[in-house]
Amino acid sequence: MTIKFQSSALIKFLLVAQCVSVLCVAQDFDFFYFVQQWPGSYCDTKKSCCYPKSGKPDSDFGIHGLWPNYKDGNYPSNCDPNNPFDESKISDLVSRMQQDWPTLACPSGDGTEFWSHEWEKHGTCSESVLEQHSYFQTTLDLKNNTNLLQALQDAGINPDGNSYSLGSIKDAIKSAINYTPWIECNNDADGNSQLYQVYLCVDSSASGLIECPVFPHGKCASTIEFPSF
Ligand code: 5GP
Ligand code: 5GP
Repeated sequence: MTIKFQSSALIKFLLVAQCVSVLCVAQDFDFFYFVQQWPGSYCDTKKSCCYPKSGKPDSDFGIHGLWPNYKDGNYPSNCDPNNPFDESKISDLVSRMQQDWPTLACPSGDGTEFWSHEWEKHGTCSESVLEQHSYFQTTLDLKNNTNLLQALQDAGINPDGNSYSLGSIKDAIKSAINYTPWIECNNDADGNSQLYQVYLCVDSSASGLIECPVFPHGKCASTIEFPSF
Protein backbone atom coordinates (compact mmCIF):
# COMPACT_ATOMS: atom_id res chain seq x y z
CA MET A 1 0.00 0.00 0.00
CA THR A 2 2.69 2.42 1.07
CA ILE A 3 4.86 1.49 -1.86
CA LYS A 4 1.93 1.92 -4.28
CA PHE A 5 1.14 5.35 -2.83
CA GLN A 6 4.73 6.42 -3.04
CA SER A 7 5.16 5.35 -6.64
CA SER A 8 1.99 7.14 -7.79
CA ALA A 9 3.09 10.23 -5.89
CA LEU A 10 6.46 9.95 -7.61
CA ILE A 11 4.81 9.67 -11.03
CA LYS A 12 2.68 12.72 -10.28
CA PHE A 13 5.75 14.60 -9.15
CA LEU A 14 7.63 13.65 -12.30
CA LEU A 15 4.70 14.69 -14.51
CA VAL A 16 4.42 18.05 -12.79
CA ALA A 17 8.16 18.55 -12.95
CA GLN A 18 8.11 17.74 -16.65
CA CYS A 19 5.25 20.18 -17.33
CA VAL A 20 7.02 22.88 -15.41
CA SER A 21 10.20 22.30 -17.34
CA VAL A 22 8.32 22.34 -20.69
CA LEU A 23 6.58 25.56 -19.69
CA CYS A 24 9.88 27.08 -18.65
CA VAL A 25 11.34 26.43 -22.07
CA ALA A 26 8.35 27.62 -24.13
CA GLN A 27 7.05 30.38 -21.91
CA ASP A 28 9.36 33.34 -22.25
CA PHE A 29 6.20 35.28 -23.23
CA ASP A 30 2.50 34.41 -23.50
CA PHE A 31 1.23 35.87 -26.78
CA PHE A 32 1.93 38.62 -29.33
CA TYR A 33 0.21 41.87 -30.08
CA PHE A 34 0.14 42.47 -33.82
CA VAL A 35 -0.18 46.24 -34.16
CA GLN A 36 -1.09 48.20 -37.29
CA GLN A 37 -1.18 51.98 -37.60
CA TRP A 38 -3.36 54.28 -39.69
CA PRO A 39 -0.91 56.68 -41.43
CA GLY A 40 -3.42 59.56 -41.56
CA SER A 41 -3.61 59.54 -37.76
CA TYR A 42 0.16 59.42 -37.33
CA CYS A 43 0.54 62.41 -39.66
CA ASP A 44 -2.28 64.81 -38.72
CA THR A 45 -1.11 65.31 -35.11
CA LYS A 46 0.69 68.35 -33.73
CA LYS A 47 3.93 66.43 -34.19
CA SER A 48 3.24 65.69 -37.88
CA CYS A 49 5.21 63.09 -39.87
CA CYS A 50 7.72 62.60 -42.68
CA TYR A 51 7.13 60.34 -45.66
CA PRO A 52 9.75 57.67 -46.23
CA LYS A 53 12.48 58.30 -48.82
CA SER A 54 10.69 55.87 -51.15
CA GLY A 55 7.67 58.22 -51.29
CA LYS A 56 4.19 58.56 -49.81
CA PRO A 57 2.95 55.21 -48.49
CA ASP A 58 -0.31 53.67 -49.71
CA SER A 59 -3.53 54.84 -48.13
CA ASP A 60 -3.69 51.66 -46.05
CA PHE A 61 -2.90 50.44 -42.56
CA GLY A 62 0.82 49.89 -42.08
CA ILE A 63 2.52 47.51 -39.70
CA HIS A 64 3.84 48.94 -36.45
CA GLY A 65 5.08 45.73 -34.93
CA LEU A 66 4.69 42.23 -33.54
CA TRP A 67 5.17 42.46 -29.79
CA PRO A 68 5.68 39.56 -27.39
CA ASN A 69 3.61 40.12 -24.23
CA TYR A 70 2.72 38.56 -20.91
CA LYS A 71 -0.83 37.77 -19.83
CA ASP A 72 -0.43 40.10 -16.86
CA GLY A 73 -0.09 43.02 -19.29
CA ASN A 74 3.66 43.46 -18.88
CA TYR A 75 6.07 42.76 -21.69
CA PRO A 76 9.73 41.94 -22.16
CA SER A 77 11.90 44.27 -24.23
CA ASN A 78 15.42 44.45 -25.65
CA CYS A 79 16.11 40.81 -24.88
CA ASP A 80 19.28 40.10 -26.84
CA PRO A 81 21.95 42.74 -27.50
CA ASN A 82 23.97 40.03 -29.27
CA ASN A 83 21.44 39.69 -32.06
CA PRO A 84 21.24 43.11 -33.75
CA PHE A 85 19.08 43.86 -36.80
CA ASP A 86 20.84 42.67 -39.94
CA GLU A 87 19.20 43.84 -43.16
CA SER A 88 21.18 41.30 -45.19
CA LYS A 89 19.08 38.58 -43.51
CA ILE A 90 15.85 40.00 -44.93
CA SER A 91 16.96 41.37 -48.30
CA ASP A 92 14.29 39.29 -50.05
CA LEU A 93 11.60 40.99 -47.93
CA VAL A 94 12.64 44.64 -48.25
CA SER A 95 10.26 45.60 -51.04
CA ARG A 96 7.30 44.10 -49.13
CA MET A 97 8.52 45.88 -45.99
CA GLN A 98 8.63 49.24 -47.78
CA GLN A 99 5.08 48.67 -48.93
CA ASP A 100 3.52 47.24 -45.76
CA TRP A 101 5.79 48.46 -42.94
CA PRO A 102 6.60 52.04 -43.97
CA THR A 103 8.16 54.51 -41.54
CA LEU A 104 6.50 57.87 -40.94
CA ALA A 105 8.86 59.29 -38.32
CA CYS A 106 10.95 62.37 -39.01
CA PRO A 107 13.41 62.87 -40.54
CA SER A 108 12.53 60.78 -43.61
CA GLY A 109 14.14 57.38 -43.49
CA ASP A 110 14.35 54.26 -45.59
CA GLY A 111 12.67 52.10 -42.94
CA THR A 112 15.84 50.58 -41.55
CA GLU A 113 15.69 52.62 -38.33
CA PHE A 114 12.07 51.61 -37.65
CA TRP A 115 12.61 47.93 -38.48
CA SER A 116 15.77 47.68 -36.43
CA HIS A 117 14.05 49.37 -33.48
CA GLU A 118 11.16 46.87 -33.70
CA TRP A 119 13.49 43.88 -34.02
CA GLU A 120 15.79 44.92 -31.22
CA LYS A 121 13.08 46.06 -28.76
CA HIS A 122 10.46 43.37 -29.46
CA GLY A 123 11.72 40.77 -31.96
CA THR A 124 14.68 39.72 -29.82
CA CYS A 125 12.21 38.70 -27.10
CA SER A 126 10.65 36.03 -29.31
CA GLU A 127 13.81 34.80 -31.03
CA SER A 128 13.21 31.33 -29.53
CA VAL A 129 10.17 31.10 -31.84
CA LEU A 130 10.98 33.39 -34.77
CA GLU A 131 14.47 34.15 -35.98
CA GLN A 132 14.97 37.45 -37.79
CA HIS A 133 13.78 36.42 -41.23
CA SER A 134 10.73 34.57 -39.89
CA TYR A 135 9.89 37.44 -37.54
CA PHE A 136 9.52 39.85 -40.45
CA GLN A 137 8.00 37.35 -42.85
CA THR A 138 5.41 36.21 -40.30
CA THR A 139 4.43 39.80 -39.58
CA LEU A 140 4.08 40.61 -43.30
CA ASP A 141 1.95 37.49 -43.79
CA LEU A 142 -0.29 38.46 -40.86
CA LYS A 143 -0.93 41.80 -42.53
CA ASN A 144 -1.77 40.07 -45.83
CA ASN A 145 -4.26 37.84 -44.05
CA THR A 146 -6.05 40.61 -42.15
CA ASN A 147 -7.20 43.32 -44.49
CA LEU A 148 -8.39 45.91 -41.98
CA LEU A 149 -9.16 48.64 -44.50
CA GLN A 150 -11.28 46.26 -46.56
CA ALA A 151 -13.10 45.10 -43.41
CA LEU A 152 -13.94 48.69 -42.48
CA GLN A 153 -14.89 49.78 -45.99
CA ASP A 154 -17.16 46.76 -46.42
CA ALA A 155 -19.08 48.12 -43.44
CA GLY A 156 -19.25 51.63 -44.92
CA ILE A 157 -16.47 52.99 -42.70
CA ASN A 158 -14.11 55.01 -44.91
CA PRO A 159 -11.04 57.16 -44.26
CA ASP A 160 -12.90 60.32 -45.18
CA GLY A 161 -12.46 62.51 -42.10
CA ASN A 162 -15.91 61.56 -40.78
CA SER A 163 -16.65 60.23 -37.32
CA TYR A 164 -17.78 56.68 -36.64
CA SER A 165 -18.85 54.98 -33.45
CA LEU A 166 -16.11 52.98 -31.81
CA GLY A 167 -18.53 50.05 -31.57
CA SER A 168 -19.21 50.04 -35.32
CA ILE A 169 -15.45 50.00 -36.03
CA LYS A 170 -14.85 47.06 -33.69
CA ASP A 171 -17.87 45.16 -35.04
CA ALA A 172 -16.73 45.63 -38.64
CA ILE A 173 -13.29 44.19 -37.88
CA LYS A 174 -14.67 41.41 -35.70
CA SER A 175 -17.15 40.27 -38.32
CA ALA A 176 -14.53 40.26 -41.09
CA ILE A 177 -11.69 38.52 -39.28
CA ASN A 178 -13.50 36.75 -36.40
CA TYR A 179 -11.37 38.19 -33.61
CA THR A 180 -12.02 41.15 -31.35
CA PRO A 181 -9.63 44.03 -32.02
CA TRP A 182 -8.45 46.61 -29.53
CA ILE A 183 -8.46 50.16 -30.87
CA GLU A 184 -5.93 52.78 -29.79
CA CYS A 185 -6.81 56.42 -30.38
CA ASN A 186 -4.70 59.54 -30.55
CA ASN A 187 -5.65 63.17 -31.10
CA ASP A 188 -5.39 65.21 -34.26
CA ALA A 189 -3.96 68.76 -34.14
CA ASP A 190 -7.39 70.07 -33.09
CA GLY A 191 -7.68 67.58 -30.26
CA ASN A 192 -10.23 65.22 -31.87
CA SER A 193 -10.05 61.55 -30.87
CA GLN A 194 -9.24 59.41 -33.89
CA LEU A 195 -8.50 55.84 -34.96
CA TYR A 196 -4.71 55.42 -34.61
CA GLN A 197 -3.75 51.77 -34.10
CA VAL A 198 -5.49 48.39 -34.24
CA TYR A 199 -4.26 45.58 -31.98
CA LEU A 200 -4.90 41.92 -32.73
CA CYS A 201 -3.43 38.99 -30.82
CA VAL A 202 -1.38 36.05 -32.07
CA ASP A 203 -0.59 32.83 -30.22
CA SER A 204 2.88 32.34 -28.76
CA SER A 205 4.03 30.06 -31.57
CA ALA A 206 2.98 32.70 -34.11
CA SER A 207 0.71 30.31 -35.97
CA GLY A 208 -2.39 32.50 -36.06
CA LEU A 209 -4.76 34.97 -34.50
CA ILE A 210 -6.34 34.35 -31.10
CA GLU A 211 -8.69 36.32 -28.86
CA CYS A 212 -6.56 38.70 -26.79
CA PRO A 213 -5.83 37.37 -23.28
CA VAL A 214 -5.58 40.97 -22.05
CA PHE A 215 -6.07 44.37 -23.62
CA PRO A 216 -3.75 47.35 -23.25
CA HIS A 217 -4.98 50.44 -21.36
CA GLY A 218 -6.14 53.65 -22.97
CA LYS A 219 -9.32 55.28 -24.04
CA CYS A 220 -11.04 56.41 -27.22
CA ALA A 221 -14.05 58.70 -27.36
CA SER A 222 -17.28 56.80 -28.11
CA THR A 223 -17.24 58.35 -31.59
CA ILE A 224 -13.89 58.74 -33.36
CA GLU A 225 -12.59 60.21 -36.57
CA PHE A 226 -11.14 58.20 -39.41
CA PRO A 227 -8.93 60.76 -41.17
CA SER A 228 -7.99 60.55 -44.81
CA PHE A 229 -4.43 59.88 -45.94
P1 5GP B 1 2.98 54.08 -26.24
O1 5GP B 1 3.53 54.63 -24.96
O2 5GP B 1 3.09 54.98 -27.42
O3 5GP B 1 1.66 53.36 -26.10
O4 5GP B 1 3.96 52.88 -26.59
C1 5GP B 1 5.29 53.09 -26.84
C2 5GP B 1 5.92 51.78 -27.21
O5 5GP B 1 5.93 50.91 -26.09
C3 5GP B 1 5.19 50.99 -28.28
O6 5GP B 1 5.46 51.41 -29.56
C4 5GP B 1 5.73 49.62 -28.01
O7 5GP B 1 7.03 49.48 -28.49
C5 5GP B 1 5.73 49.59 -26.52
N1 5GP B 1 4.45 49.14 -25.97
C6 5GP B 1 3.40 49.89 -25.50
N2 5GP B 1 2.42 49.11 -25.03
C7 5GP B 1 2.83 47.84 -25.20
C8 5GP B 1 2.26 46.57 -24.88
O8 5GP B 1 1.16 46.44 -24.34
N3 5GP B 1 2.99 45.48 -25.20
C9 5GP B 1 4.21 45.58 -25.77
N4 5GP B 1 4.85 44.44 -26.05
N5 5GP B 1 4.78 46.73 -26.07
C10 5GP B 1 4.11 47.85 -25.78
P1 5GP C 1 7.78 51.78 -30.21
O1 5GP C 1 6.76 52.83 -30.08
O2 5GP C 1 7.51 50.58 -31.04
O3 5GP C 1 8.71 51.59 -29.06
O4 5GP C 1 8.79 52.56 -31.11
C1 5GP C 1 8.48 53.31 -32.16
C2 5GP C 1 9.81 53.91 -32.53
O5 5GP C 1 9.99 53.76 -33.89
C3 5GP C 1 9.88 55.38 -32.17
O6 5GP C 1 11.18 55.67 -31.76
C4 5GP C 1 9.58 56.04 -33.48
O7 5GP C 1 10.24 57.27 -33.64
C5 5GP C 1 10.10 55.03 -34.49
N1 5GP C 1 9.30 55.02 -35.69
C6 5GP C 1 9.79 55.14 -36.93
N2 5GP C 1 8.81 55.12 -37.83
C7 5GP C 1 7.65 54.98 -37.14
C8 5GP C 1 6.30 54.91 -37.54
O8 5GP C 1 5.92 54.96 -38.71
N3 5GP C 1 5.39 54.73 -36.55
C9 5GP C 1 5.74 54.67 -35.24
N4 5GP C 1 4.77 54.51 -34.34
N5 5GP C 1 7.01 54.74 -34.83
C10 5GP C 1 7.96 54.91 -35.78
